[in-house]
Amino acid sequence: MILERREFLSSLTLAGAATLFPGISLLAATSPKKEKLGVALVGLGYYSTDLLAPALQLTEKCYLAGIVTGTPAKAETWKTKYNIPEKNIYTYENFDKIADNPDIDIVYVVLPPSMHREFVVRAAKAGKHVFCEKPMAPSVADCEAMIAACKSNKVKLAIGYRCQHDPNIQAYMKVAKEQKFGKVKMVTSAAGYVDNRTTHWKQNKKLGGGVMGDMGVYALQGARLATGEEPISVIAQASTTRPEIYKEVEETMMFMLDFPSGARAACQTSFGTNMNHLQVNYEKGWLKMEPHSGYNGNKGSMSDGTVINFPIKSQQAKQMDEDALAIMNNTDLIAPGEEGLRDIRVVEAIYKSVASGKSVKI
Ligand code: NAD
Repeated sequence: MILERREFLSSLTLAGAATLFPGISLLAATSPKKEKLGVALVGLGYYSTDLLAPALQLTEKCYLAGIVTGTPAKAETWKTKYNIPEKNIYTYENFDKIADNPDIDIVYVVLPPSMHREFVVRAAKAGKHVFCEKPMAPSVADCEAMIAACKSNKVKLAIGYRCQHDPNIQAYMKVAKEQKFGKVKMVTSAAGYVDNRTTHWKQNKKLGGGVMGDMGVYALQGARLATGEEPISVIAQASTTRPEIYKEVEETMMFMLDFPSGARAACQTSFGTNMNHLQVNYEKGWLKMEPHSGYNGNKGSMSDGTVINFPIKSQQAKQMDEDALAIMNNTDLIAPGEEGLRDIRVVEAIYKSVASGKSVKI
């Protein structure tokens, strides 16, 4: 009996097929037959609990298959609530055994930023595709190591930039691309909320805290996405009105960016003020978004009367479905590791500028 090449391939193990056909690219861990990819959430804090797990009940291309937690009580609660089999529950210590679990295709790292590198690299070595929350990591060197680990293990790395999957954000990206109102002259963007916690990782330097990596990336993304350009220099100033809480890291960061076209951006981010907006002034018009980086209801208007207000059920569900689909089809991700790195490159320059009090080239 002559087997079709596809049937023949599917009758082999992945390793066996790769040996027979060394030229073909077999993406690790992903069975071509799966209709939905299994996601394991690493770190069951606020974002996993309140946003990602509920969103994984709405996704069509992926589902909540496993968890990785350091807290046995959380494991019990999640196991019951989401019907997670015991064999798909890991601790930070035995996490590497996930390599042997075919239920898990994607590991989603939702830990404090200083832990992202370790768990992304461990997931990649386990042959799993990776989603990693923003900020990608505290340093450019970390980001580069994460990208390299995913490349060498032939797995994809997506950063959790949910806004880039939101049609409302895509709408203003398109305005820049099409030069609807001519060139961008000035961007003003702001992202902040009041965080009164005192001992959370966001107030801890070693764990990757500080407002710049946390909310600051939304203000920065606003400037980058609204211009469609990468900044070439930055001057920044950090400040704190509550030194009793923000001892190690900045509470507020204000930074000004210069872009190759001559466009400029004035950005601010804070753990002391509620703010969430973007304004873009072009040669021949303007665009305003408020809210700009919310989970729901991002909306805006333009000087010609155009309204931006696309409904979206769940940004996180759309993000994870689109990223899962890119893994299934081996196509480009909307926000790959390289996109996370672009932001961290600027974040590093911002801290250098704060330290020197001078403008820093990027
Ligand atoms: P969180 O503090 O609520 O949760 C962090 C989790 O990490 C907890 O389960 C905690 O137990 C675990 N953890 C393990 N080791 C730890 C350690 N040494 N110190 C502290 N916690 C430790 O934080 P979060 O708000 O869920 O944020 C997690 C990640 O998700 C961050 O990267 C954050 O920036 C990102 N996030 C993204 C969005 C978004 O809109 N994309 C929103 C919120 C958070």
